[in-house]
Amino acid sequence: MKKIKEEIDKPLCNCGIVGVFNHPQAAVISYYALHSLQHRGQEAAGITTFYYDEQKKKMRFSTEKGAGLVLDVFSDGKALTENLKGIAAIAHNRYSTTGSSKKSNIQPFNMIYHSGILSIAHNGNLTNTRCLRNYLHQQGAIFQTTTDTEIFLHLIAHSKKETKIGQIREALQFVEGAYSFVILTEDSLIAARDPYGFRPLNIGRIKLENGDYSYIVASETCAFDIVDAEFVRDVKHNEIVVINRKTCETGEMQSYNIVENTPEARHCIFEYIYFSRPDSQIFGHNVDKVRRKLGKVLAEESPMSLENNEKISTISVPDSANTAALGYARINQNHHPNTVFEIGLIRSHYVGRTFIAPGRNNRNFKVKVKFNPVKGVIEDRNILMIDDSIVRGTTSKALIKLIRSANPKQLHMKITSPQIKFPCFYGMDFPSREELIANDYNSEEEIGNALGVDSLHYLTIEKLLEAVPKDEGISYCTACFTGEYPVEYDKKQNKFVTEE
Ligand code: SF4
Repeated sequence: MKKIKEEIDKPLCNCGIVGVFNHPQAAVISYYALHSLQHRGQEAAGITTFYYDEQKKKMRFSTEKGAGLVLDVFSDGKALTENLKGIAAIAHNRYSTTGSSKKSNIQPFNMIYHSGILSIAHNGNLTNTRCLRNYLHQQGAIFQTTTDTEIFLHLIAHSKKETKIGQIREALQFVEGAYSFVILTEDSLIAARDPYGFRPLNIGRIKLENGDYSYIVASETCAFDIVDAEFVRDVKHNEIVVINRKTCETGEMQSYNIVENTPEARHCIFEYIYFSRPDSQIFGHNVDKVRRKLGKVLAEESPMSLENNEKISTISVPDSANTAALGYARINQNHHPNTVFEIGLIRSHYVGRTFIAPGRNNRNFKVKVKFNPVKGVIEDRNILMIDDSIVRGTTSKALIKLIRSANPKQLHMKITSPQIKFPCFYGMDFPSREELIANDYNSEEEIGNALGVDSLHYLTIEKLLEAVPKDEGISYCTACFTGEYPVEYDKKQNKFVTEE
């Protein structure tokens, strides 16, 4: 884990989830969907399917999971085509901070309890796990993992409600924080988003040859494209959706509120800035469009011009800032016509572990393995580099050094988010306040000097909020920039204490 943190100085997310119902190849569909959600978690992957055991005359589950990328975990195709039987599946890509490679922490989690069988996968981070875990311990619960997700299973098992949906709803009313869940029962796929809807969750469907539909639920819609599923709708914040046999025949889904009164949603704004894939639709909107708009408002707020209409070459830090850089260059042409978008950095997508020769600068070398400047674009040019965020600043510093080695005339940097000054307690892994570069300096000028650029500008929170979609009853979490946390968190609870 340390390796990933060091190599990618970006916020990392706690997971991607998938659910498939009524598909003859549920495991294969889940596999491809997980594959497109790989960016949401690279540490481990798992799939659980439910199938009917003819001999025992009952539903059973089968699970395959392991540490590593989806491709590695399912490198043996037999796991998908033979071991994971059944027409319903849930799947999970995991990222966590510590204790991660323990197999017991890899989801989905399955349970056999008084009401039957149930399997669950979770994206997000619960904020009241310490007190719930204490409470459950006192009730006699024995934990097998160190994740917050297992708490949820115990709450379901402890519920006195008669129906599974009643048990699940009650358990959801106990937990606080950010969660998107997919749950498999003997006869249903259940999807839920917390009352504030921090993380995205979407419903799609695939038309089968017999005219029925199979349903798919996924963190992002890029998972639908790969399996030719059409988008149906979002799981709404504070909503539990039940997909069953009837849904596949009629399209009808049961929907329940988690808490009685639905609060104003607080979608994670960082999903738009960096985390979700630009080809996805999340929270009902196209990520690519929002990211382009972020670049445009950045140009409106902080245009760049040079004397004598000298050329400004706008480059992006690939891949997450590509669209924003295009948006910036487009609007900056209104201020400075000789603004062009250029590909100034090439990113290698095939970097695995890096082996550092003794005496070499670790950080610089890792960045060099990952990025290479295009000298013909950079040498003797005025470069404006657009990036989406700066966390510790370590990668940015090394990247700037690398670009400087290609001898630009000037090197400026603009960021499509405000300064990150606070940690996230809702499922995005930011380091502690002390490690965030924005807390080390008093101004963006000072940060820019420390990074080694001629100037630096961060998008203001006002402009950020102007750029993101505005829907009725929907607001945003901006806590990592402002420190205003929409859901109280247990201050004694280290955010990842549940991960060990
Ligand atoms: S604190 Fe930041 S990363 Fe975390 S949910 Fe809020 S906006 Fe998203």
